Amino acid sequence: MVTNRTFTMLKPDSLEKGNTGAILEKINTAGFRLVAMKQTQLSKRDAEAFYAVHNERPFFNDLVEYMTRGPIVAAILEKDNAVEDFRTLIGATNPEEAAEGTIRKIFATSISENAVHGSDSDENAQIEGAFHFSGREIF
Ligand code: ATP
Ligand code: MG
Repeated sequence: MVTNRTFTMLKPDSLEKGNTGAILEKINTAGFRLVAMKQTQLSKRDAEAFYAVHNERPFFNDLVEYMTRGPIVAAILEKDNAVEDFRTLIGATNPEEAAEGTIRKIFATSISENAVHGSDSDENAQIEGAFHFSGREIF
């Protein structure tokens, strides 16, 4: 398994607020290489599948509504220790608990609208990247 890659989405609130460029700049400055990237929009089915692990949670319907309401930017990123380092770069799920300087601290609105996604394991990074990209979109 590839262990130096992770998967991210800039969520709809980031695009609505015009933060795409600023967030990509932080990702780039932190040393991640773009392996694949595109702007797209999740269907309800896509979002339900992507976040299936949360389908029993009380916030699931709101999460699907949020993730489908506008375009996202999906990307595969490469760096040593990518999964863990990217989770550090984005900060805690709740921006109020996120460390200073993290992407969620700077750009997120709330625990539910928190600007970015980051894979939580090498296995999920692989699954999530393959969910969004075909082999000839990955470099
Ligand atoms: P992500 O998987 O998007 O990177 P995460 O791993 O930090 O986020 P998860 O626990 O996987 O957090 O939750 C997935 C998403 O569900 C969160 O990013 C957020 O948008 C939403 N969410 C999580 N917990 C809550 C909550 N308590 N209330 C509202 N929304 C929540
Ligand atoms: Mg998660």
